Amino acid sequence: MPRCPDGHDTLRPLIENSIEGASCETCRGIWLPGAIVQAAIGRTPKVAAADPDAPRTCPTDGARLRDVKHRGVTVDICPECGGVWLDHGEREQMMGSTELGGGWFVVELLLNLLFVP
Ligand SMILES: [Zn+2]
Ligand SMILES: [Zn+2]
Repeated sequence: MPRCPDGHDTLRPLIENSIEGASCETCRGIWLPGAIVQAAIGRTPKVAAADPDAPRTCPTDGARLRDVKHRGVTVDICPECGGVWLDHGEREQMMGSTELGGGWFVVELLLNLLFVP
């Protein structure tokens, strides 16, 4: 089972609007596996490799996560599988930064903004 990138416990499956992610009960962060991200935005996010001393590692494959900032919100992306980690606060920021009412489609929207080629 995948573990929280911040060193907490095993992530628990989280299913909302048929998008299957995983969440940490301790920090309430959310992991969106690469396959889910790809399904949501139609492609795998491409990011440069993270610094070797980057603090967080991918729950799926253990690669260092790269932090990417967009409009004041930071998400951590795995250069290997394209999975995305959202801190609880980051998710809240996202929900608060839109008038669309929140929900997974907001994540989708943000990812689209982030990864327009
Ligand atoms: Zn955690
Ligand atoms: Zn990964």
